[in-house]
Amino acid sequence: MKHCCDKMEDEIVRVCDQHDRRWDCPDALIHYIPKFNEYGVIIHDGGQSVMGITFCPWCGSRLPESMRDRWFSELEALGFDDPSEEDIPEQYTDDRWHSQPKHG
Ligand SMILES: [Zn+2]
Ligand SMILES: [Zn+2]
Repeated sequence: MKHCCDKMEDEIVRVCDQHDRRWDCPDALIHYIPKFNEYGVIIHDGGQSVMGITFCPWCGSRLPESMRDRWFSELEALGFDDPSEEDIPEQYTDDRWHSQPKHG
């Protein structure tokens, strides 16, 4: 299992057949950003707001630390100053860069 508990796992993989975007679905609670390993509560204010959380609302486990800072510093080390605008290596677009053991 990738996440702390079944509830979290279900919530993150759940796709609503009535709403294409999670923000449009009042039932959607948690947004997970694989590339940052970051969890947040979806704020249904008409935008795409997410409030970061530290603990799982269901099982109370401490959630893994956000990799956002490391994502930026690793890409900067590779020469990307503005990774959100640049064509970054594919593994940095999802969780591959931090979930796979490094080779060499
Ligand atoms: Zn949990
Ligand atoms: Zn829905």
